[in-house]
Amino acid sequence: MGTERRADVAVVGGGIVGLAFASEAARRGHSVVVFDRTAKPQGASVRNFGMVWPIGQLPGESYDRAIRSRSRWLELKEKAGLWVAECGSLHVAHEADEDDLLQEFAALAAPLGVKCEYLSRTEALTRFPAVNPTGLRGALHSPTELAVNPPDAVARLPRFLAEVYGVQLRLGETVTNITMPHVRTASGETWRADRVFVCSGADFETLFPEVFASSGIRRCKLQMMKTHPQPNQWRLGTHLAGGLTLCHYKAFEMCSALPALRRRIGEQMPEYVKYGIHVMAAQNDRGEVVIGDSHEYDADISPFDKVEIDDLILKQLQRLVVLPDWTIGARWHGIYAKHPEKHFVTAEPQPGCVIGVAPGGLGMTMSFAIAEDWWTVQ
Ligand SMILES: Cc1cc2nc3c(=O)[nH]c(=O)nc-3n(C[C@H](O)[C@H](O)[C@H](O)COP(=O)(O)OP(=O)(O)OC[C@H]3O[C@@H](n4cnc5c(N)ncnc54)[C@H](O)[C@@H]3O)c2cc1C
Repeated sequence: MGTERRADVAVVGGGIVGLAFASEAARRGHSVVVFDRTAKPQGASVRNFGMVWPIGQLPGESYDRAIRSRSRWLELKEKAGLWVAECGSLHVAHEADEDDLLQEFAALAAPLGVKCEYLSRTEALTRFPAVNPTGLRGALHSPTELAVNPPDAVARLPRFLAEVYGVQLRLGETVTNITMPHVRTASGETWRADRVFVCSGADFETLFPEVFASSGIRRCKLQMMKTHPQPNQWRLGTHLAGGLTLCHYKAFEMCSALPALRRRIGEQMPEYVKYGIHVMAAQNDRGEVVIGDSHEYDADISPFDKVEIDDLILKQLQRLVVLPDWTIGARWHGIYAKHPEKHFVTAEPQPGCVIGVAPGGLGMTMSFAIAEDWWTVQ
């Protein structure tokens, strides 16, 4: 048997959730070790848009959490040298019901503390010339959204935590067993920790499969693409979303215009509803425009991507924006864990061992605040 190693806190999973819990523990002065089974991150945290997205959250607690996470990203921009762009977001309306909803949302949300404003067609086109003018009616602008480059950020963050707080990194090391206070790995290491966080993303099989089986968590597959870098330093200038996105995020549920919008989309765009497609675009620091996405759950998840889904996404995005270069440079899919009602799922299968998973499509937006809140109530 090898030597027993020691840390106050062990974190299983080097995706954004694990890194947020590790970062929060390290900031509070605990010694921390982070395990990930892959040497280079490959989970949902490197496959996403890199959108930090307060505007999609319900005003109040959820929006405030997103804003707190936003502050942490901006802090990391300074301290860890991450690329973080304060690009904001624009929801564009090309149909009357979308325009009605955006106007209603701006009127309801602004007094609730959500920073956003309705832009007329002319204002939107003046400020964001990339928007497709054909059929444009108006837009909702929010200044709070951030852009990060997920693969770069998730690779840089552990190194930053190691440099600044002495966090120990065990990347390329699969955790095979946790029997508190011990964590055991595939290469035979044994660690002793007072607290263990299991942030294993959509992997429900390796550790505590029985907890996951009864948790109600679902898996969701999303198809994504990105263009070649756009020519001549062209910038989109904002995160972009359209009418389908208004049916996706909780924030818009407070609008009385939503049921009519949903009905019309159900009647006119059944193939979009079938694949859970809503269309968004984000531009990274390399000039590539990241495009998505679809939502297929559990038994509908296939290892093989559907060309039809990519075609539907691109067709819809072309209604929203005029890109100088539509050449697709890469296609991929990601899988995340999501609970139908809860924003995040925690369980404590053994004293001191906390499972923290399933932020759904909001891991980049919420994880820092989720981790901060967890530590605050201890
Ligand atoms: C296509 C797509 C687009 C998205 N867009 C956005 C967006 O723009 N904004 C946003 O806020 N959210 C977005 N999300 C959601 C966000 O990416 C996820 O919520 C988040 O990445 C989940 O993070 P995680 O750490 O739980 O999982 P992961 O990133 O999957 O990390 C889990 C890690 O645990 C490791 N692991 C598992 N088991 C073990 C073990 N036994 N031993 C060692 N290591 C283990 C895995 O190797 C993995 O690295 C998107 C998701 C997808 C898929």
